[in-house]
Amino acid sequence: MFELNKLVRTNILALSPYSSARDEFSGSEGVFLDANENPYGTLNRYPDPYQKELKDLLAGLKGVGRNEIFVGNGSDEVIDLLFRVFCDPGKDKALTFTPTYGMYDVSAAINAIEMIKVPLTSTFGIDLEQTLAKMDQSAVKLTFICSPNNPTGNAFPIEIIEKILQRNQGIVVVDEAYIDFSSTASAIQLIGSYPNLVVTQTMSKARGLAGARVGFAYANSAIINLLNKVKPPYNVSALNQRAAIDALSNEPGFEDQLKTILEERFRLSSDLSGLSIVQMVYPSEANFLLVAFDNANTVYNELVERKIIVRNRNSVVQNCIRITVGTPEENTLLINTLKQLENEKSTLY
Ligand SMILES: *Cc1c(COP(=O)(O)O)cnc(C)c1O
Repeated sequence: MFELNKLVRTNILALSPYSSARDEFSGSEGVFLDANENPYGTLNRYPDPYQKELKDLLAGLKGVGRNEIFVGNGSDEVIDLLFRVFCDPGKDKALTFTPTYGMYDVSAAINAIEMIKVPLTSTFGIDLEQTLAKMDQSAVKLTFICSPNNPTGNAFPIEIIEKILQRNQGIVVVDEAYIDFSSTASAIQLIGSYPNLVVTQTMSKARGLAGARVGFAYANSAIINLLNKVKPPYNVSALNQRAAIDALSNEPGFEDQLKTILEERFRLSSDLSGLSIVQMVYPSEANFLLVAFDNANTVYNELVERKIIVRNRNSVVQNCIRITVGTPEENTLLINTLKQLENEKSTLY
């Protein structure tokens, strides 16, 4: 039997959360003399602490209940809150599959949590046997599965994720920052079946709002309530809630952009594969490509010199550079520049 409260830090279980003015009265009509706001202006009122309008919109789009959604100041806030709810500093452990998104490690370190790292296979798959052994060895409170994975670009089969969910004694977080670019189904459909599942998504990538800082967690309402208990009362500004609502209300614009980015990912991938300085373009279900070069450091430096900025991942996956899919013009400029480098190759190598 899974008992959520056994995983929660005792101080968090005992916590009485801050009760804001908008917690105590949440109606929208009346004379508001309760929150020490300035009565004049347009952004003079505190935002809705539970983002009801945004959640209602998301609930419809994702097929979940409003109480199964948490909105954070980016999904990075969700990651940090999960550590603070479930992991006792200096005592508990978390697990990731490397290479992956760097924030899991940073958040773990900030919260003084040891991170167990299970390396992905040579084709960036999850080694299930090794994972289950590691999970059995030590009580892992939080397991992060980034799918599609940053920086490798591949998504993990839902059956593998389910196997980990079934065996895991702790919370399993599936980070779906890139799910809109993927043909793999979202794990959101599983939150009703697994009481230990948290799925995170974000407005920062496919939805084009990285500047606004809006991220989501989807889970059963018991987990969502714990996140609500710990979050800063007004963690998502009124401007950011509005930006997210507007973006989510423009489905045709979103679909158009997504289509272009996916077509460009295909073109970029095939053009890169044709270059002799490229060893390998890894398959991608995200809006970036992981590309192995003969010499990633040289290529990176030459591109920066020409004011084209990519992400050098040589220290993470040898000789690899992560390239975000840009506009058609940007991608063409990149390809032409790499062709130029290829022609100058004799002087570079
Ligand atoms: C970009 C990214 C995020 C987004 O984080 P936000 O705080 O929502 O901007 C989350 N997870 C992964 C794996 C990412 O690459």
